[in-house]
Amino acid sequence: MPQAAQSVQMPQRPKLGQNFLVSPTAQAAIVDALGDVSQRTVVEIGPGRGAITALLAARARRLLAIELDRDLAPRLREQFKDQPAVEILEQNVLTTDFAALRDKEGSTNAGSPGEKLLVVGNLPYYITTDILLLLFRFYAAIERIVLMIQREVADRLAARPGISDYGVLSATTQMYARVEKLLTLPPEAFSPPPQVHSTVVRLTMSPRFDQLQVPVEEFLAFIRTCFAQKRKMLAKNLRNAGHDPAAIASALVSCSISPRSRAEEIDLPTMACLFRHLHPTQD
Ligand code: SAM
Repeated sequence: MPQAAQSVQMPQRPKLGQNFLVSPTAQAAIVDALGDVSQRTVVEIGPGRGAITALLAARARRLLAIELDRDLAPRLREQFKDQPAVEILEQNVLTTDFAALRDKEGSTNAGSPGEKLLVVGNLPYYITTDILLLLFRFYAAIERIVLMIQREVADRLAARPGISDYGVLSATTQMYARVEKLLTLPPEAFSPPPQVHSTVVRLTMSPRFDQLQVPVEEFLAFIRTCFAQKRKMLAKNLRNAGHDPAAIASALVSCSISPRSRAEEIDLPTMACLFRHLHPTQD
């Protein structure tokens, strides 16, 4: 088996979500989807064996690549040692401060003040949601994100209200970013092949909190409340969270929401309307 042969040369840690992208077309498509990176700082999550990294290194002004695997990180450092624009950071992406990365002084090619990051990665699928929520937390430091993720997760990120894929992750993501699904790949595009299809998505940061006049943390918590039991009526989820039934009934009327609606049918401006009616400002 080629896989056994590979593991002699290069250890593989399935627990770290190591499905390496072996399709050159897909590697190029991911890098192309970031746009012109020649004047930009790019952060790659999980460079692995450097498939995407090598293409980025040739194009980006600066590339910071975050790899947790203690064997792969030194190999990458060796591979890119003659390219001073490339910095390999051996650390956990989930504990990475992206605002600090943006402001990080490099040995060369430091970014200009206020410049936002471009983020890219063929993600370890087991922590996709955690990575997305982390990136959203640092939305002010990031302009655009291109990620390879499991197809079903991509469908949820991009889902519009009214279809069953639309849920907490869709609503949360769409409060922060515009979502485009770019291409879908079969398992054979990876080594070893995962058990799922994969989709490349592009997220362009475009936060809507100010436009919809809602506070970030409180509104994200409200979204979770609305979807607490996805198959139940929205009004029931709000009652279960302690909202007064009369206030719920009045807010539903004010926002033109049918009393029998479920959260998955409600678009974000209407959900924001509901939030504002149930959380009147004190002043
Ligand atoms: N970019 C490479 C490619 O496309 O072939 C590898 C992608 S592989 C799906 C995911 C990579 O993320 C692996 O190299 C794995 O070691 C790394 N990884 C897994 N968990 C990580 C974490 N918490 N922080 C940083 N890297 C991680």
